[in-house]
Amino acid sequence: MAVDSSLAEMHWKHDLLGSIEVGIVVLDKEFNVKVWNQFMENHSSIVPGMIQDKNLFEFFPEIDNEWFMRKAAPAFSLKSPVFIIWEQRPYLFHFDCNRPITSQANYMYQNITIFPLASLTGQVEQVCIVIYDVTDEALSKLAMQSLNAQLENINRVDGLTGLYNRRFWEEQFIMEYKRNHRSKNPSALIMLDIDHFKKVNDTHGHPAGDEVLKIVGSIIKKATRETDIAGRYGGDEFAIILPDTPAADVEFVAERIRRLVEKCTVVYDEVNISITISIGIAGFKHNFTDNIQWLDSADKALYQAKNSSRNRVILSE
Ligand code: GH3
Ligand code: MG
Repeated sequence: MAVDSSLAEMHWKHDLLGSIEVGIVVLDKEFNVKVWNQFMENHSSIVPGMIQDKNLFEFFPEIDNEWFMRKAAPAFSLKSPVFIIWEQRPYLFHFDCNRPITSQANYMYQNITIFPLASLTGQVEQVCIVIYDVTDEALSKLAMQSLNAQLENINRVDGLTGLYNRRFWEEQFIMEYKRNHRSKNPSALIMLDIDHFKKVNDTHGHPAGDEVLKIVGSIIKKATRETDIAGRYGGDEFAIILPDTPAADVEFVAERIRRLVEKCTVVYDEVNISITISIGIAGFKHNFTDNIQWLDSADKALYQAKNSSRNRVILSE
């Protein structure tokens, strides 16, 4: 009778372990496998007979054993459960994910719980690892994060030129202004405006004007550093902050942009359009009392350039 009931118990335990949709692995203190359920067999193609009493790490070289032993230690010594979520490590066991081919997952994302298994004497000689397949949850969270990053970028960027839009550029400019007050290395500001741009629109049409704006935006992007902050300030006006850059070097950069624009020909509808730009530069000064003064200095230099026959770079005093 006793044999019958223990056999029956073994039977339902076996069925239970086989039918649940989580991985169950029992390990001893040496990390030898004591229980390996159907879920683990299905995903690893390792049957219990192959891995029973064998060391887990021999079968799964992808597991960083030092890290895993450190993680599992509290389950043995403090008898407390341990949780590892997919955001810390995407998986413990590298299993294929059985999602449609269209899904971006190359593997099964897993949450892991390590439970202590106390013997009758209260000693923890074994732990039970439970492996949850959280691929769907992980993929939707990752998709949401990527969407948020794209939205953030759309919020910052001018749709036509790909440079920062005015709102974001101004936020950066205010921060740069404040940073300059605390810094010994002054930054410089370039204001740049296309010469007679109205004429381009009037002669060749608005779409041709748009193409010119795009090309000027791409020249600015190419001619500046990744750390420079370039934005479209208004219709045909652009602003660039060059952090920690002496005015002499900025004149050199501005001159390069001016020459690149002068040399390039914008082709639109088989018509060649040549353009020039005027540029004003203002270095940061510690006696500025607000950021508008800095902007005004660059603007004044720009209008000096406009008033002295355009296609010029003027450095503010
Ligand atoms: P100046 O040399 O004095 O700068 O002369 P300008 O003709 O360039 O004069 P201004 O800078 O005032 O002209 C800006 C023009 O830019 C007016 C406006 O119609 C045009 N504009 C503004 N935004 C856009 C845009 O997104 N696309 C196009 N194609 N034109 C734009
Ligand atoms: Mg203009």
